[in-house]
Amino acid sequence: MRYRSTRAAPADPGVTFSEAIVQGLAPDGGLYVPVSMPTVSPEAFAQADSMPAVARVLLAPFLAGDPLAEALEAITAEACTVPAPLVPLTDNPDVWVLELYHGPTAAFKDFGARFLAAALPRARALGADRRPLEILVATSGDTGGAVAAAFHRRPGVHVSVLFPRGRVSPTQRHQLTCWGDNVTAYEVDGSFDDCQAMVKAAFADTALTTQFALSSANSINLGRLLPQMVYYAWMALTHWRRDGRAPHVVIPSGNLGNALACVWARAVGLPIATITLAHNANHAVADWVQTGVWRPRPSVATLANAMDVGAPSNMERLLARTPTPDAFHADGLHVHTVSDASIAETIRHAAATQARLWCPHSAVAAATLHAMQVGTIPVPDGWPGEAPVVLVATAHPAKFAEVVEPLVGHPLEMPPALRTLFDRPSHATSLPATATALAAVLRA
Ligand SMILES: *Cc1c(COP(=O)(O)O)cnc(C)c1O
Repeated sequence: MRYRSTRAAPADPGVTFSEAIVQGLAPDGGLYVPVSMPTVSPEAFAQADSMPAVARVLLAPFLAGDPLAEALEAITAEACTVPAPLVPLTDNPDVWVLELYHGPTAAFKDFGARFLAAALPRARALGADRRPLEILVATSGDTGGAVAAAFHRRPGVHVSVLFPRGRVSPTQRHQLTCWGDNVTAYEVDGSFDDCQAMVKAAFADTALTTQFALSSANSINLGRLLPQMVYYAWMALTHWRRDGRAPHVVIPSGNLGNALACVWARAVGLPIATITLAHNANHAVADWVQTGVWRPRPSVATLANAMDVGAPSNMERLLARTPTPDAFHADGLHVHTVSDASIAETIRHAAATQARLWCPHSAVAAATLHAMQVGTIPVPDGWPGEAPVVLVATAHPAKFAEVVEPLVGHPLEMPPALRTLFDRPSHATSLPATATALAAVLRA
């Protein structure tokens, strides 16, 4: 299997999976996509009764011919160990919740970050590059914590997490600053955009890139995207084995990495019906579906802040697959946007009537289901009855206690993984918001 940039000519030979994960972004600024989608039938998973086993069957064709293929078993055994329970929302057999928040930092980004952390050092060991690996992450929330947790104490890798002072919640700040060892947290006197500009400047600094192999480990990296297909395969196979039904899936979306993984899992052959991208008030994708004109815009702040994205980075991959709104609909894709008022009402209502605590992001999926139930948006074919709906829950509500607790009116219990993190001391180094300041600390 080879991967080609979304901006490359069709004759471009592309790169291997190993090359794609070391590079992250393609040199032409595009995103790597498989040159052709492999097919894996549900029957191929007959012996696959665990998450690592499903991962091996699903990802084998994506690593075919790659030097990393031999390590796939070890990588999946190490990385694909976070459970993804599929639980009924109430006693209604037509609505399920796929809980993706049982990893070390209690959000779905753990799945991709852990796979990349297992694969990237192995891919580099196979190559000739002996520069030390430096991961630079600018973060306003979940990504920094997931990447830090995944790479923590890995030999030969150092992680620098940059976050804006005073702009992350206390819970988020702790998850960025509690690691130590090979992870350094920098509290930047500036905004998230400043943090991102500093990382960008570091990548363009040839003195730094001579000394270090820099990587951003960000969500456009194929090494984060492909493993996210695994929990969709797991979920679809669970339904298919139980009663032969192919579920509709509703996914809280920002940069579209999670949604794209589901689209690709279905393209490979997994039994999944429609896929609905559930966005907060950042409605660039919904506007594109309505007008056919792709117009990225500045992000607006919402209660679901990990989805506050005005220019989704994976849109280029989505457009490579479905270039027009007609193609998007023909591919069984839908989009819905949800206001902050609706997020708040959904959290309040679910806590009061369904004994379900949603994080603000997962509430966007639940609010989308509600819009289907009351007829605001069309109900997918065959639902309810022939096909279940699966709501994807992307983070544990306690991660966003500042938002959720006032709405539900009681304190939230932290999951054990998060509690463990809070037992660790927190440490951050202050950093002025300049590229020279970052270059200086990286060299030191
Ligand atoms: C990152 C994130 C999202 C958005 O996922 P994308 O892959 O960027 O669409 C949704 N919910 C939570 C909790 C997140 O951390």
